Amino acid sequence: MEQFDVIILGGGAAGLSAGLYSTRAMQKTLILEKLGYGGQILVTDEIENYPGFPEGIKGPELSIMMEKQTRRFGADMRYEEVEGVENLDQPLKLIHTSEGAYAGKTVIIAAGGSHKKLGVPGEDELSGRGVSYCAVCDANFFRGQDVVVVGGGDAALDEGGYLSGIVNKVTVIHRRDELRASKILQERSLANPKMDFLWSHVVEEFQGEPDLENALVRNLKTQEVYKYPASGAFIYIGFESNSGFLKGQVPMDEFGHIQTDISMATGIPGVYACGDIRVNSDRQLGNAVGDGITAALSAYHYLTEGE
Ligand code: NAP
Repeated sequence: MEQFDVIILGGGAAGLSAGLYSTRAMQKTLILEKLGYGGQILVTDEIENYPGFPEGIKGPELSIMMEKQTRRFGADMRYEEVEGVENLDQPLKLIHTSEGAYAGKTVIIAAGGSHKKLGVPGEDELSGRGVSYCAVCDANFFRGQDVVVVGGGDAALDEGGYLSGIVNKVTVIHRRDELRASKILQERSLANPKMDFLWSHVVEEFQGEPDLENALVRNLKTQEVYKYPASGAFIYIGFESNSGFLKGQVPMDEFGHIQTDISMATGIPGVYACGDIRVNSDRQLGNAVGDGITAALSAYHYLTEGE
């Protein structure tokens, strides 16, 4: 079985940053990623709040740059899905993937999270036929058409703004009459003539055959239920951590976020967690990068000095 000093689970910003520091510290490092390097930033259009890019940068572009930089120092980066872990409390930890198994002296969990689903009728059936979780990927299909965005956080307004540059009209459907998003995004969205808001509304069903035609919405103040026409629906109602494959193996909270201390240690010797998957993460790109670096440095100290 191949053995590594550091095995990193996940190739988003946290995992790539951890990989960059581990390889530059001359540790034999494997990064396992199931989909695409960059994680959430790969599906984020414009990033304006990551220091060093005064004009902002496109998420996919930054993903490629981060991936290249980590590869440059010799990280072994493989597209494999992690299916399970074993012996995490032992000196050699086992990682099982879709392709086989690896042994690691340390493990850094950077598996991030995925967009939550609404769980309403029609959502799964119309996914890919109007219902989407990625504006950057799918906005072009709705050029000149009317779409809805569900949610009231940063992601909903950020992606709503992006959509407004491509589609005819964006209606944000939010379950309260107050947004959760940061003030700058609120101000920008409320002033955007192509963005509209349905306050205190929820979607009860997505309807259409063969493609999305309406969101069936309920006004929570009046209880009125009606059809709101839309050919696209972009759902941004938060994030779920990708920690299912670790259940019972590492300490986590009721939502599946992994507990760590400030050195990203999980309490299991040689096992660290960083980025969106950990408890109390601010889920910002800068935090993911910082967490990844801390985790790699902690792993390095463990490898060279012990606990
Ligand atoms: P979020 O901040 O948790 O917001 C989720 C939104 O969806 C909230 O407005 C919430 O409503 C609503 N919601 C949740 N469950 C719902 C349901 N079942 N039905 C209807 N609405 C529902 O999630 P996010 O916007 O995905 O952001 C996640 C993290 O990434 C945040 O920390 C955010 O700051 C960060 N992020 C930052 C940027 C940026 O800075 N540009 C961009 C994207 C994401 P309530 O408000 O009523 O709870």
